[in-house]
Amino acid sequence: MGNLEYKVLVGLEIHVQLCTQTKMFCGCALSFAEEPNSRVCPVCLGMPGSLPVMNKQAVEFAILAGMALNCQIAQFTKWDRKSYYYPDLPKNYQISQYDLPLAINGYIEIPTDNGIKKIRIIRAHLEEDAGKNLHTAGNFSLVDLNRAGTPLLEIVTEPDMNSAIEVRALAEELQRIVRYLGVSEADMQKGHMRFEPNVNLVITRAGQEFKTPIVEVKNLNSFKALENSINYEIGRQLDRFNETGEVMEMGNKSTRGWDDAKEVTVLQREKEEAHDYRYFPDPDLVPVETNEDWLIPIQERLCELPLKKRLRYVKEYGLSDYDAGVLTSERATADFFENAVKSGGEPKRVCNLLTQYFQKRANERGCNLTELGVKPQQVAALAKMLEKEEISATAAAAISDAVVLSEDLDPGKYAQEHNLLQKSDAGELEAIVEEVIKANPQAVEDFKAGGKKSGKAKGFLLGQVMQKTKGRANPKVAAEILDRKLA
Ligand code: ZN
Ligand code: MN
Repeated sequence: MGNLEYKVLVGLEIHVQLCTQTKMFCGCALSFAEEPNSRVCPVCLGMPGSLPVMNKQAVEFAILAGMALNCQIAQFTKWDRKSYYYPDLPKNYQISQYDLPLAINGYIEIPTDNGIKKIRIIRAHLEEDAGKNLHTAGNFSLVDLNRAGTPLLEIVTEPDMNSAIEVRALAEELQRIVRYLGVSEADMQKGHMRFEPNVNLVITRAGQEFKTPIVEVKNLNSFKALENSINYEIGRQLDRFNETGEVMEMGNKSTRGWDDAKEVTVLQREKEEAHDYRYFPDPDLVPVETNEDWLIPIQERLCELPLKKRLRYVKEYGLSDYDAGVLTSERATADFFENAVKSGGEPKRVCNLLTQYFQKRANERGCNLTELGVKPQQVAALAKMLEKEEISATAAAAISDAVVLSEDLDPGKYAQEHNLLQKSDAGELEAIVEEVIKANPQAVEDFKAGGKKSGKAKGFLLGQVMQKTKGRANPKVAAEILDRKLA
């Protein structure tokens, strides 16, 4: 097709389920995998005459997330009805926010290969989730309304992402952020985050620019599906443009679904415009007005965000970007690390102990690092002993095992009681080295002769020292003494 260049444009709509105790407008508990229709009441069943009451916690969670996403928080916001005629929302409308969302004009910073990139956020608003239609049995459908009325934060970005990888980076960063803030568990398996990317291409051919029609891919609930569906759309839209030359016009936006098994997008429908939803203010709910007295205490709950933390760990502690990423992926892990450093552990050593040792133990047990029953002070003590060369790496592993098994174990005491402390005491080691030299005249001769045999002989002599100390000689100190004696 000759000289054809293209740029990918992706904007993202994300629904994040908030981890409130109860639903958005009634007192029903949030539910996952409970018996169908066991967490319902007249409000979320859409019974005539029932009245919704706003969940303040959900609004505060949404405000907190909006602040973390650098948004302006609205002083005045309201609730709107969005017409929706499906059995999974029996009121026949969804309570959402239309023209006055809770948060606007923010941005999120994401890590890319070319450094940090800012993705603009158009808006973040609150709404209720629908229930679930089930078409699994016979010649009829079932509906489970347990999920109906669950609070969702809908976040909409500008089309500032230029690859599937950037979109994935944003999704993962957002997951870390809402978890740090404690506003969502963001558990993908439980559908706590759902993505709808808007994808199109700007194609340049023979100096002329063409935009392909925008496709919205609906309801993706894994990072993999998100990334793969965008890559698929890029290829499909290129092919389509090459075949038909079709470009974006008013009204040729379309909606497609993702077939996980076949890894293709499938046309669902031509997109409805906003007026099809017939939004209008919900007369059953009062508008929400925010003021400083309410917002300041929420603002105080903001914490250092994961990406900032990660960059700081690299700069302040000299950790690799990879290690910093591992430690900051969850707030509890980062807090644990920082507490161990505060307790005197050298950062790099604490990091190694955590990532190479304790994280593995946690993975084996299927728990979080912080649920291992290990205290930051214990990790700091281990790090200190390693730094002072009081213990070897092997001894550190043995002590760590013991620490995992017993909560109040003092690593220093344990090392002493189990003869795990290295002999670094020059006086004591000197006598042992002396003995070894006396007992091995041939090796000493080979060592002194230099050349090829010399290194081997030194290794042998050191081996003898290790044997005599049952592996507890500090190898560095022992080697120094040997060098000095044989010089
Ligand atoms: Zn209810
Ligand atoms: Mn929505």
